[in-house]
Amino acid sequence: MYRWLVVAALATGLVWPVGSPSIARGEGWPSPAAGQTISGDPEVIFTFDDGPDPRSTSKVLDTLAAHRVQAIFFLVGWRFQRGDLAGSRVLLARMLDDGHVVANHTITHAQLCGLTPEQLDREIAGARDLLEREAAMRVPWFRTPYGAYCGRLLDGLARNGVQHFHWDIDPQEWQGKSAKSTAAYVIRHLARLQGRAVLLMHDTKPATAAALPEILAWMDSENARRKAIGRRQIRVISGPELAAERVKPTLDWLATAVASGPTRLGGVLAGSIP
Ligand SMILES: [Zn+2]
Repeated sequence: MYRWLVVAALATGLVWPVGSPSIARGEGWPSPAAGQTISGDPEVIFTFDDGPDPRSTSKVLDTLAAHRVQAIFFLVGWRFQRGDLAGSRVLLARMLDDGHVVANHTITHAQLCGLTPEQLDREIAGARDLLEREAAMRVPWFRTPYGAYCGRLLDGLARNGVQHFHWDIDPQEWQGKSAKSTAAYVIRHLARLQGRAVLLMHDTKPATAAALPEILAWMDSENARRKAIGRRQIRVISGPELAAERVKPTLDWLATAVASGPTRLGGVLAGSIP
């Protein structure tokens, strides 16, 4: 039931993934990327960029399903414009069926700081519109390619009403690292994790698909070991759980509005609109 509330909230665009709507100029993206741990446990959020890719995304989805991990997939629009369009649609449908959150990673994966305002709008809002048509739901979450950060981009994000969802752990496997060194990098960082971290990987890379089973198997055995000695386990925060956190103020507000009775509901609603 709760999950459906979250999905509904996401679908209506009521929930934002990170921070406050305005990011002060010159400060860079927030760190940690998705706030502090709430449970007190080490918390990790799995995110995958640049897909869907018919060669490797289904293997990533199989591994996530086997370990009951729900992630956030930042998709690029061009995969729904050319190439294996039918394959991209099947993978998108599976992501949604498996409970993952799908999000916007522009159309062409451009370096956004080099674009004109018109080109920026096409990459941000154009990809959002395209993905919303494909997913048949709102797709409010966004990640800028390469983590680009500049005034022009901040203007573009504000103009289009979106925020960038950054990361904390980047194994850089997109540069051609092997599965072995990718897994070792991620495991090393998860082993010493104390707060909350967003993990950035790429479901388009065979090395990622090959490293993920090792990472999740390590987490299972590490958590079993920690449980046995009474240490805090590493907790996966799913996309829907993160959405639940962000939408909680909205749900609380709705509860207050409903509790205030039908006659006052109009006033509460009106008062909420700037
Ligand atoms: Zn990317």
